Amino acid sequence: MKEQLRAIRGMNDILPTTSHRWQALEATVAKVLAAYGYSQIRLPIVEQTAVFERSIGDTTDIVQKEMYTFADRNGDHLTLRPEGTAGCVRAVLEHGLLNVQPQLRLWYIGPMFRHERPQKGRYRQFHQIGVETYGMQGPDIDAELLLLTARLWQALGLSGLRLELNTLGLAHEREQYRAALTAYFESHRDALDEDSLLRLARNPLRILDSKNPAMQAIVANAPRLTEFLEEESRTHFATVCATLDAAGIAYVVNPLLVRGLDYYSRTVFEWITTELGAQGTVCAGGRYDALVELMGGKPTPAIGFAMGLERLLELLAAQTGSETNPEADYCVVGAGEAESQAALLLAETLRDAYPESRVTCICGGGSMKSQMKRADRTGAQIALILGSEELASDTITLKPLRGQGEQQRVARAALLATLSTAPVN
Ligand code: ATP
Ligand code: MG
Repeated sequence: MKEQLRAIRGMNDILPTTSHRWQALEATVAKVLAAYGYSQIRLPIVEQTAVFERSIGDTTDIVQKEMYTFADRNGDHLTLRPEGTAGCVRAVLEHGLLNVQPQLRLWYIGPMFRHERPQKGRYRQFHQIGVETYGMQGPDIDAELLLLTARLWQALGLSGLRLELNTLGLAHEREQYRAALTAYFESHRDALDEDSLLRLARNPLRILDSKNPAMQAIVANAPRLTEFLEEESRTHFATVCATLDAAGIAYVVNPLLVRGLDYYSRTVFEWITTELGAQGTVCAGGRYDALVELMGGKPTPAIGFAMGLERLLELLAAQTGSETNPEADYCVVGAGEAESQAALLLAETLRDAYPESRVTCICGGGSMKSQMKRADRTGAQIALILGSEELASDTITLKPLRGQGEQQRVARAALLATLSTAPVN
């Protein structure tokens, strides 16, 4: 026997038993996004490596150790996208979308790739739905994104998510803060772990993000960015918070929330659950006013977020259960050559009459007994049976497969009338 080939570690198959849950999640999110006037953009999965190096920033975990980068047959440096924002900005600029419409509301969906250690809630291929907006200074659009996410959780039936919010100020404000932070951590060098020492050299703000409990005390006493914010940045943040207050959306201001990417400015946020263990952030985003210019465009304010679909599905299963999805509502059975042909045509008639229903035929032959077994496995409510007797008398036997109800034989002409008294679906 040949050796069984396997999927790559951390890259999951989504099996037919769960794909309906993905479809339902995607449909709900798409509906909410449409309700806010967002349009979908579909982007390539592979980009030139420079698209990510330039945007995400080379001091980040993603660029330093997580990207799937390779040379293709021409020797071009390509990368499987680790996130969606960089490619979205690239596409917006390449097609001059902002020249046509200076304010854009976009969303995307698809797989992302990061070479991380696979564990629950953390995979090497995972899926995001992301939202990006361009050309709006805020703070109104910042608040709109938060209202939108809150509505999403409601539409999905999720509860208990905590919104954490922070402001990172503008680059020049952060520069001053960075100097103060560097001085502070330099004076506590001895207490820093290896990771924090590296961050101190490259990007001291990211020490605030340290997951090491031993760092907590030093981090807690570090200077705060808010002390370095000018009036405009303060007002911006206060207005976002005031809108959330007015809308009745609870949040926590977390001054340690700095986010992993370099390109953020001002508002950043995460939606976090305590129900998924260590990988509790289901949605994260923020403002990135400098990125469009960095990627070669005119200075353009921007803000967006991305949510991890695996984590959202995990949370949905925990909170709302994971129901199975029958493959059919009606199952048509016809054992025998003439019967199976009649069954195919009867199924077509049902699909004409009930376009919203799922109708399946037992194909591939076999005895009536084995076909009935297979019919039951489809999860259908009703089997429509065409045996030789039915064929000869132009009738159909209706057999309820679930719940109560008697088997009955009906004239073909009366079929739809009979079914419509007990519609399925
Ligand atoms: P984390 O701190 O968990 O590594 P991140 O800051 O790297 O997250 P983002 O780049 O902000 O994550 O991506 C947005 C969302 O995508 C995350 O909040 C999470 O829900 C999801 N996500 C990120 N990386 C992974 C992964 N490797 N596997 C599954 N989901 C992920
Ligand atoms: Mg990460």
